[in-house]
Amino acid sequence: MKKENFKDIPDADKIATECAICMEEFNDADEVGELDCDKRHYFHTKCIEEWIKVKMECPLCKKQIEDKPELVKEESEGPFEDLDEGDKKLPDSR
Ligand SMILES: [Zn+2]
Ligand SMILES: [Zn+2]
Repeated sequence: MKKENFKDIPDADKIATECAICMEEFNDADEVGELDCDKRHYFHTKCIEEWIKVKMECPLCKKQIEDKPELVKEESEGPFEDLDEGDKKLPDSR
């Protein structure tokens, strides 16, 4: 997600004057997050970050949001590989 101030959005892409999530009008100084699905799909960063926690899709076109914001980092650990297994010898009673 690209973050920028509302005033930095090119006029051609400024199709929405209000945030589709909170329905409030954008101010020039508002920080908006632009989704990857469409550069004209932008929302207040605070609004879209809250939205993403609930739904991983664009509020406008319902496209899946693949770009996870940093605040929802998932703890992931790499796959464990048991390389030691081959060295172990079973006790042979004979
Ligand atoms: Zn908003
Ligand atoms: Zn969209």
